[in-house]
Amino acid sequence: MEQEKRHDPNDTTLRFVDRPDDILLDDDPNTQRIEMPCGHAVTPQSLTAYCRSLLDQGQYKFLCPALKNGTNNKCGAEWKYVEVRRIALLTEEEQNHFEKTMAELAAAMYCEYNSCPGCSSYIERQKLTNLCVRCTICTAESGKCYEFCWQCLKTWKGPAPRSDKCENDSCVNLKLEKLLKCKDTILPELSITTVRALQCLGEDIARPKYCKPHQPAKPSSSSSSSGFSNSGSVLII
Ligand SMILES: [Zn+2]
Ligand SMILES: [Zn+2]
Ligand SMILES: [Zn+2]
Ligand SMILES: [Zn+2]
Repeated sequence: MEQEKRHDPNDTTLRFVDRPDDILLDDDPNTQRIEMPCGHAVTPQSLTAYCRSLLDQGQYKFLCPALKNGTNNKCGAEWKYVEVRRIALLTEEEQNHFEKTMAELAAAMYCEYNSCPGCSSYIERQKLTNLCVRCTICTAESGKCYEFCWQCLKTWKGPAPRSDKCENDSCVNLKLEKLLKCKDTILPELSITTVRALQCLGEDIARPKYCKPHQPAKPSSSSSSSGFSNSGSVLII
């Protein structure tokens, strides 16, 4: 039998509860149940198994499956990967599996299409590691090789292939730059690929709650009423 994952019961950043697990409805007193930000309870095991099964079905958003009090409606709250990783105590092997799968899904679903700045047709990027992309339509029309930069969406400048930037001055990966500048970034062990994958999948990982000192909160519709009811401490150290 798999060894049970347990958090340090004195970890004050987690909220331990006695209620049954809301994923498996298990109330075995020997399991450690932790409240997720949405208020539903999980065990590290049930959380791991549930999220893993979602990923393996190609679902990259971890939505809480618990039923809302006395109804047949699912809670549906989205659990961030970084929360899942921490609360589920994902092992290194599990993290690798999760992150690889998310990167693949991100690539497949979102990030690998852009429109060509020359002709506006949608183009799929062939190689994740090369920002220099050739448009076959523009190339055929103009009779010479037309390549553009996947990141700044301008005509490619400089040598290729490159995975970081082209030689256009304005070519920066803003999100990544923000993240790298941030000395106290709290996701030290996430690879750049994972960071990008999470961003592609809509996880705003550079948002203020991970990085309060440097980033003023943008006045967005959702941030007005502090969406994190459980003090936010449950997120990551
Ligand atoms: Zn929930
Ligand atoms: Zn084109
Ligand atoms: Zn560029
Ligand atoms: Zn910071």
